Amino acid sequence: MKVVNHRLCQDDGTPFEFIRSPNQSGAITPEYLIMHYTAGRSARSSINWLVNSAAKASAHLVIGVDGSITQLVAFNRKAWHAGASHWGGRSGFNGFSIGIELDNPGVLTRRGGAWFTTWGDRVDEENVVEAVHKNGGELRGWHAYSAEMLEASVEVASVLVQRYGLKDVLGHEDIAPSRKTDPGPAFPMDSFKSRVLGRHADEPEIFETTVRLNIRKGAGTQHEKLAMSPLAPRTRLEVLGQQGAWRLVDVLDPIQDEHDIHGWVHGRFIRPIN
Ligand SMILES: [Zn+2]
Repeated sequence: MKVVNHRLCQDDGTPFEFIRSPNQSGAITPEYLIMHYTAGRSARSSINWLVNSAAKASAHLVIGVDGSITQLVAFNRKAWHAGASHWGGRSGFNGFSIGIELDNPGVLTRRGGAWFTTWGDRVDEENVVEAVHKNGGELRGWHAYSAEMLEASVEVASVLVQRYGLKDVLGHEDIAPSRKTDPGPAFPMDSFKSRVLGRHADEPEIFETTVRLNIRKGAGTQHEKLAMSPLAPRTRLEVLGQQGAWRLVDVLDPIQDEHDIHGWVHGRFIRPIN
């Protein structure tokens, strides 16, 4: 992907979906990238809200769970995503940052041994990250980010860092810590930053499993599981190839004394760690 006239485009110049938000003002020169979660039901519902003038809020991009990207504000215009914000001696980050909203329900609640979104939808255990927020508070459940969304986010953020010479990637929780918890502990900010701000090209990209995960002979659940299935959570993997949502991986941790295991896993249940 690339940026043409401050709009995000595919390599062949085809623009990504652009739905103009009226919630914008003035010209900016972007210096930072700010990551958010929507705390909404779907990318579409969040887009519909952010292009409604009643929202008085917007972002430059919204990224869906499937990795789809929609632009609402040109990158050289001020979107209204940060609100009152302070960090590193600077204030009012709308005036010099690009905001990306990730479609994610955010904080979850636990009732009767199950997890729910704030609007009452049940969430599978495997999509829950239990953690204390870095800004404090109690142990809470947070909705996991999909691998497809994270991959799309890394790609677009890398393009924006290059195009605008952005200085850093921050969370809304960093620039408005008393008000905001997004993108929260489920977002792999450290690995995201190192990938976006410059991982060495010769370093392989290492992933880890986020759940107990079957590894198979082919790209799909119709293929036989390998004998060492399922892999334990946090097993380290190198991705060698991809077919749809499936990833061909080399298992880096020895399992049952086997050191050279190759197979296919679903990309949704692995996350980058470097
Ligand atoms: Zn936010």
